[in-house]
Amino acid sequence: MSDWERASTARVLPPARPRKLAKVPFVELADGRVQGVVSSGSDIGRVYVSSVAAGTYEFACSTNNNRPCGGARGMFCNHILALLNEAALQYGVERVARYLRVEVAAEELTAQAVSQVMIAARPSQGDSTAAASVFSQFLRHLAYLEFEPSTAPVPELQWFPPTRAVG
Ligand SMILES: [Zn+2]
Repeated sequence: MSDWERASTARVLPPARPRKLAKVPFVELADGRVQGVVSSGSDIGRVYVSSVAAGTYEFACSTNNNRPCGGARGMFCNHILALLNEAALQYGVERVARYLRVEVAAEELTAQAVSQVMIAARPSQGDSTAAASVFSQFLRHLAYLEFEPSTAPVPELQWFPPTRAVG
C-alpha cells in the first residue's frame, strides 16, 4: 500500500447516521409570499412546494413534480400549516404576521393564530406557477449545503428520485 493510499484510507470516516429529515427544510419570505419546501409525511422521495401570498393569502401547494397537493383543495393543507409554523420559528411570528399582513392582537400572536386569521378570510387557491422558482431556490440552497466542509452525506438529496429522462 502506498503512502497516499494509507493516508486517504485513514481519512475515511464511518458514515454519519443520517439526520432526521427536517419537516420544512426550506422557507423564505420572498416575492410577496411565505414560500418553501415541505417534506411529505409519508414518502421520503417526495416534497411539496407550498406558498401563501401576503395580503390576499392566496395559497398554493404542489409536489416537486408539479402535481397538485390533494390536501390543498379549497383550504390550507397540512404542508402550508407546517410551512407557516416553520416560518414563525425561523423569522419570528411577528415578522411573519407583518409580512403576510395578518392582524392578530399582540398577546394572542402565535403561528396558529396567524393561520386561523387567514383561513377565516377564505383565501382563494392560486396556481402553482411560482413553485418552479421556489424549488430552484431550494436546490440552490442544497447546493450551498454541499459545499460545507463536511464528509457527511447530505440526506436532503435522498428526497430526489433518480433522474429519469423525460420523454
Ligand atoms: Zn399540501
